[in-house]
Amino acid sequence: MNTFLIILLVIAILALLFSFVMRPHKRKIIAEPITDSFRVILLKDVVFYYSLDENKKKEFENRMMHFLATTRISGIKTTVEDTDKVYVAASAIIPIFGFPDWEYMNLNEVLLYPDSFNHEFKLAGGERNILGMVGDGAYNNIMILSQHELRQAFINKTGKSNTAIHEFVHLVDKTDGSVDGVAEFFTNRQYVLPWLELMQKEIKKIVAGQSDINPYGATNQAEFLAVAAEYFFERPELMETKHPELYSILNQIFRRQSGHQPAT
Ligand SMILES: [Zn+2]
Repeated sequence: MNTFLIILLVIAILALLFSFVMRPHKRKIIAEPITDSFRVILLKDVVFYYSLDENKKKEFENRMMHFLATTRISGIKTTVEDTDKVYVAASAIIPIFGFPDWEYMNLNEVLLYPDSFNHEFKLAGGERNILGMVGDGAYNNIMILSQHELRQAFINKTGKSNTAIHEFVHLVDKTDGSVDGVAEFFTNRQYVLPWLELMQKEIKKIVAGQSDINPYGATNQAEFLAVAAEYFFERPELMETKHPELYSILNQIFRRQSGHQPAT
């Protein structure tokens, strides 16, 4: 066998091994069944959950418990309560609920800080304005959230923002290697171009002061996707009224339709 064939063979074996290792499945873990106290919190505070029909509610609970069995949630100078666990897990499942087999392969741990933090993750002094972030470098596979913001988003039923959902949408966006506002895994090819055009149109409206979308969404396409997704999951009816085109394309991107009861 000549050298060329040997090299080809080695490449083929490596590619096979790589595809096996990269398969999007975490090791099989048997999740605990959901507790009554978790279910009470879901029914009380998670609008997305209680608008699902009974079968879909069950599916949501199972996926949430699986997330909690595979992801550590740790408090930094604060205690993690049941409400925090439910809020983090619900925020994780909401954006990927339309994708039955999807798991966060790029996340091992969520750190909760009592309030906002700065870039060095200090709790006080300097620029204390960050409410949530997805880690990079040494903090890869770690998400950091403000516990205060996490709770506020679920307590306030009329807001259009949700920092935890925002950060999970960044994680989904990051899966294809780039955080660019186009989650290739989620976005059917035919929607990519219309989505890119619509993002630019909506960002222009924000800059011109003609939009009720959080101005932070005008930072770049990645922030636009995350901010628009918060609005979409928190206040779908309002978005449908005010931004029908955006609502319709986000419905396609996140496959939100099935299993929902009509709004009452
Ligand atoms: Zn962001």
